[in-house]
Amino acid sequence: MSEILVYTLASGSSGNSLLVSCGGVNILFDVGVSGKQIRERLASAGFDIKDISAAVISHEHIDHIRGAGVLSRRNGLKIMATEKTLKTIQRGGRVGEIPSYDTFSRDVPFVAGEMEITAMPTPHNAVEPSAFIIRFSNGKKISIATDLGHMPLGLRNAMKGSDMLILESNYDENMLRNGPYPPTIKDQIMSPTGHLSNCLAAMTLRDLITRDTRNVLLAHLSENNNTPEVALKAVRKYVNSGTTEHPHIEVAKRHEPGEIYRL
Ligand SMILES: [Zn+2]
Ligand SMILES: [Zn+2]
Repeated sequence: MSEILVYTLASGSSGNSLLVSCGGVNILFDVGVSGKQIRERLASAGFDIKDISAAVISHEHIDHIRGAGVLSRRNGLKIMATEKTLKTIQRGGRVGEIPSYDTFSRDVPFVAGEMEITAMPTPHNAVEPSAFIIRFSNGKKISIATDLGHMPLGLRNAMKGSDMLILESNYDENMLRNGPYPPTIKDQIMSPTGHLSNCLAAMTLRDLITRDTRNVLLAHLSENNNTPEVALKAVRKYVNSGTTEHPHIEVAKRHEPGEIYRL
C-alpha cells in the first residue's frame, strides 16, 4: 500500500484547496484560489499541476472554484463536480469555460487508484453541496467537510472512525454577533445552511474522534469572525474533556500551504 499524503494549499472564506495523494493519484479537493497560487503551492511541495489527476469540487461558491477555469483551460486539469454544480459553475460565468470535466453523483462512490471517494450531501446553501469521505485500499479513511451549517446525521456516521478529520470551524459566536457584518449576513452564516461554529465543530468532533483518529485539521475559518487561537481553544476544551483519545489538532493555514501530513 502506498503512502497517503495530505497537504492544504489554502483554507478559509478567502479560498480553499487541499491535495490528497496516494500511489501516484493526486486529487485536489476544491481549487478556490487562483491558478497561479495553486501551481506555486503545489510546486513548493514537489508537485507539478500536470501530476494532478483531477480537481473534485464541493460546491459552486467562488472560494471553492476560483482556479477551476484557468487550470482546466491552461493545464488540462479535469474538473469533477455533480452535474448540477457543474452547470451552475458554467452558467455563472465567473471562472470562464471549463473544457475538461467529469461528473459524479452524491452517495455513489467513485474510484481513483487506491482511493474510493464518496460525495455526501451537506445542508449548505448551494445547489448540490458535498462533503467527501475517502476510503483507501488499506482501510484508512479521511473525511473532508466544510461549508456545513449543521452536521447531518448520515454524514456524521460516515465520518466516524476517520484516520484524519478535516472539519469546518468557521466562526466564534461572540465575534460574529458583535462583529461588523449586517444582521442578514450574520443570520445567514449562523443558519442551519450556513457555516459551522467553533462550538458546533467541537461538539461534532467529540462524537467523531475514535482511537483511529490521529489528526484533526480545523478548516475554513472566517477571516473576521474567528482566529486560529480562538478555534483551537474552543475545540481542545471540548475534545480533551469528552474523550480519552487525544489526536493532533491543528488549524489549516489561510493564505499559505500547511505542513504535509503522511498517513
Ligand atoms: Zn460555500
Ligand atoms: Zn466556502
